[in-house]
Amino acid sequence: MSTKEPDSHSPQAASTAAQALAAAGDADSARDVGALDDAAKQAALRLGAHKRSLVERLIYGPLPETSELQSGAEGAARVDTQAGDAVMHAALAALERGEAFTADGKLADALRKEVAAAGGYGFTVPREYGGKAGEYTQLALVEEEMAANGLGPLAVEISGELTIGAGSLLAYGTDAQKQTFLPMVSDGQLMAFGLTEVGIGVNAKKVRAYVEPDPKGSGYRLFAQGDRNKLWITNATHGGLVGIVARIGETGKKVGLFITRLPEENVQKGEDSDYEFWCQSSNTGAFTANYNSRIHFDNFPLQQDSEIPADGVEVLFYCLRMGRCMLAAMAAGYQRMFAADASAYAKGREGVGGKVIKHELPRQHLGKMIGGALMSRALSHLSLRQDKEGVDLAGLRDLTKSAAATSALEAQIACERVLGGRSFDKLSRVHDARHNMHVFGVVEGEDDLILMGMVKDVTDSFTTKYMAGMLGVLQSLNVDADGKPLPRDERLLRITPATAIDQPGKVFTATKRLLSNLSFWKLAGWVGGNALIEVLRLPLLLLPTSISPRHQLLPKDLAGYARFAERRLRWLRWAYLSINLYFQLELTRAQIPLQRLGKVIELLTSMLATAHHAASTRDPSQIRVAALQCEQLMTRVKGMRLITGLWQMDRLRKHVAGVGEDIEKGNCTLLDGVEPQAFSHPFEAKPPKR
Ligand SMILES: Cc1cc2nc3c(=O)[nH]c(=O)nc-3n(C[C@H](O)[C@H](O)[C@H](O)COP(=O)(O)OP(=O)(O)OC[C@H]3O[C@@H](n4cnc5c(N)ncnc54)[C@H](O)[C@@H]3O)c2cc1C
Repeated sequence: MSTKEPDSHSPQAASTAAQALAAAGDADSARDVGALDDAAKQAALRLGAHKRSLVERLIYGPLPETSELQSGAEGAARVDTQAGDAVMHAALAALERGEAFTADGKLADALRKEVAAAGGYGFTVPREYGGKAGEYTQLALVEEEMAANGLGPLAVEISGELTIGAGSLLAYGTDAQKQTFLPMVSDGQLMAFGLTEVGIGVNAKKVRAYVEPDPKGSGYRLFAQGDRNKLWITNATHGGLVGIVARIGETGKKVGLFITRLPEENVQKGEDSDYEFWCQSSNTGAFTANYNSRIHFDNFPLQQDSEIPADGVEVLFYCLRMGRCMLAAMAAGYQRMFAADASAYAKGREGVGGKVIKHELPRQHLGKMIGGALMSRALSHLSLRQDKEGVDLAGLRDLTKSAAATSALEAQIACERVLGGRSFDKLSRVHDARHNMHVFGVVEGEDDLILMGMVKDVTDSFTTKYMAGMLGVLQSLNVDADGKPLPRDERLLRITPATAIDQPGKVFTATKRLLSNLSFWKLAGWVGGNALIEVLRLPLLLLPTSISPRHQLLPKDLAGYARFAERRLRWLRWAYLSINLYFQLELTRAQIPLQRLGKVIELLTSMLATAHHAASTRDPSQIRVAALQCEQLMTRVKGMRLITGLWQMDRLRKHVAGVGEDIEKGNCTLLDGVEPQAFSHPFEAKPPKR
């Protein structure tokens, strides 16, 4: 790996993560991560944020003003909160009349019609295209209210419609595409985004659906057969609009995006048709009230002007940030719904020794539901404000989604503990919510993967500036005299005291190269400067929070938590450095430490956001909820050791590797005699060896 600092603003420059993977000899991952990073960087360039990410500043400084931390709540209080009233009124009226869902639990067309007439489907679409020109923060308020009132599936539908549906057209569509399709969206025509395929999941750049120029006309023909079928596409239905991510040319490198309207019914090849199309339920047990489809295209005609001039995966990254904020708003709503239903039950139900509500454990569960709701709302509103003000959302958009999805699932369980058997009643909305709460952790990016991506994003400048030299030196040891990579088992990923005994020559060379490397001296300077600042700050630790200028204006029940979160976030710069120095190039494979660090960043930022959000509302009951939520988050942070847990993580990784290897090689005897069930939507891959 070159020790030259890559230009982090140039999408062509391989990301530090991709370079590190290449240096560790993991060419496949380096290629995949590099391709995804390029798409993410292009999306960031398009967004044109002019301020560094909040999470990065919380860790590496300068510390953001408290007004910035409260800007989400303040922004939400300033918007016209009645903008969504007509939409909510229409939706709730349909629900009350029993017209919101069909007998088999699907969203009813009657509901869609009423909500569309009230402007719900074009809520954030500009007026010139028939929309209501609402702000995303106003949409978040509507999404939350829908989910809070048993209309979560409608919130899911509208979120998809507006964040990645209309959102992709608004950001990347041509004028003609906007003129044609956005009025349809405003009228309530469903719009989907089809990226996932039977054969491709999280590795989005590998899509295999493709287009070829139409030999008969000026447009394209789309091919997505077999395991190239688009799968789990929310909002996709006959007659609906869909943005389809497809490769340009079967073996082409470019991944495009095409908008089309699906036929009203399946089409078979024959005398009347030279193409084939079908759209059927994906048979998922989540989002069951919504359309969720598997779609097949064979020689399907796409008009020339259906091509959205952009990379399909870049569009996904661009729109995901809004999708994640809306998911957090929905999670806030769902959790308020759980708390409302569970508290009504607890207040009415006699438990052992009095009403259930009187007892401490059910109260703690209720606190978890309502605290998760407040936290999800705080993060969603803060992210939306930051986005509006041109702050890079790297980090915040990811932890917002992960924190909200995790708390929603935990709130579901907490609700079940209070509601008991009735939470499994087939007609209860708590029961209905269960699958959606699980799938929130998977859609819009799987939580653990996005936490690792977040760590990469918020530490990228530091890694590029200070760590690249060390990685480069290690990499230089992994090539032979002709510059060719050494065989895998001869590569050195980590220099430990034992290496000095086993391979003193290599350690000597590494030390020599390191000492003559400018980046190493930069790192040494960084360590010295930052350590000195920490030492000078030590006396400040003794200052009571009540007289800390930065925290004394916060309610006294919250000030200590905010202070704790800020201090611990600042200390994470040392945790990241330690993890790097300890794991070195092996960090490309060591997911456990990165995920753990990501989780701690998530918990601390959530604490800070929740405390400031509640403080800004000045609502005593929300301040109490925030204090409880912060206490619970703090307990979890204290249980997650980073610097002092390095050896423990090594042990854990060793055990994980042992069990994983046994399972991979079919040597785990506990699995003997258990035949795996064939999974749905089988893809073309060798069956797992067992
Ligand atoms: C209800 C529902 C609605 C959806 N809606 C849409 C939609 O509208 N449009 C759309 O395009 N897609 C949609 N999806 C697809 C969703 O985005 C994918 O399920 C998701 O991207 C994961 O893909 P996968 O399920 O194929 O998992 P896989 O890609 O098979 O991954 C399996 C697991 O392995 C993990 N994994 C993979 N690689 C690594 C790695 N390097 N390190 C660690 N872990 C790894 C993943 O995180 C995941 O947990 C939907 C899915 C569902 C279930």
